[in-house]
Amino acid sequence: MRSGQHHFSADYATARRRLVEACAARGLTVESHRHPLRGPSGEPIALDVVRVGPADAPRRLLLLAGTHGVEGYFGAAVIHGLIADGHLDHLPRGVAVVMVHGVNPWGFAWTRRVTEENVDLNRNWIDFSAPRPHHQDYERIADALLPESLEPASLAAADAALRHFARSNGFAALQAAVTRGQYHFADGLYFGGFGPTWARRRMADVAAAHLSGAEHVAVVDFHSGLGTYGTGELITIAAPNSADHERAIHLFGDTVKSTLTGESLSAHLTGSLDEGLAALTRPAHLTFVALEVGTRDGQTVIAALRDDNWLHQSGRLNSGGAAAIKARLKDAFAPGEAEWQDRVHALGIDCVTGAIAKL
Ligand SMILES: [Zn+2]
Repeated sequence: MRSGQHHFSADYATARRRLVEACAARGLTVESHRHPLRGPSGEPIALDVVRVGPADAPRRLLLLAGTHGVEGYFGAAVIHGLIADGHLDHLPRGVAVVMVHGVNPWGFAWTRRVTEENVDLNRNWIDFSAPRPHHQDYERIADALLPESLEPASLAAADAALRHFARSNGFAALQAAVTRGQYHFADGLYFGGFGPTWARRRMADVAAAHLSGAEHVAVVDFHSGLGTYGTGELITIAAPNSADHERAIHLFGDTVKSTLTGESLSAHLTGSLDEGLAALTRPAHLTFVALEVGTRDGQTVIAALRDDNWLHQSGRLNSGGAAAIKARLKDAFAPGEAEWQDRVHALGIDCVTGAIAKL
């Protein structure tokens, strides 16, 4: 068994190649849903699915890497470790593990948190036949989140506007305004979309093929970028004392935190993948947690997202400053230090192996 850092890859193409190699070594099949676009080096990209255990297992554990594109480095490293180090070789009877590598493969490949539609896939699962949610708080800060340029004067004015909002309403209100999900600014941050994305449609296919007929579906959706460096938080959208919450605590331990109570680092979201999968897996019980690991401080992460969004919206992807912006974004979600990689990898492996034992 190698230490956690050895399961991290330098880029999406390498992570994908290593997934295929690790699966081949264990006789596992990789089912690839090819994306219509390509990666930055012209490489093919795909939402890749691997199942270990029987197709008709009554209890299934779904592992998701890269719902937020660039955050996929963490989940991909956990999945690689699970397969390559033999953690899935002896599953309990009646249990199957389904792994999705690159839920949003375009964002993973292009070092973006969002999909090719500039959509946050974890805000995209609303019912688009109904009126879209309107979050007026986002409107008040939309210009500050997409400044005209990244020149110091422009950024200083944008930062002052965000500070003013935080002073008037509190930092938690600013975080919620930015991150909860918005459905009116297609060029903004945390945009939930005007319709289902390619990735949402493919995930519906995956659910139909790999989750139907199960009695219980447990999900770990791997995320990074929120919280204290190198530590993890298990997050549920279920209300405390609900059956969903009780199952989450049974499987993942009593450190699970709910977004409904304010105890979680995360704001309560609209259009989350959790809601989407609940609809797709009915009548099975669904126990969904996000494992969120901390990287850099919140302001650094938001600044990296803002700069990257500006880069794409301003069409300057081939400009001289692009590489530095991309490097900052990757660092904000997948720090390169071995210490960080070892710590979060161990958190991921423990979370999954613990859940398998109790499923
Ligand atoms: Zn995330």
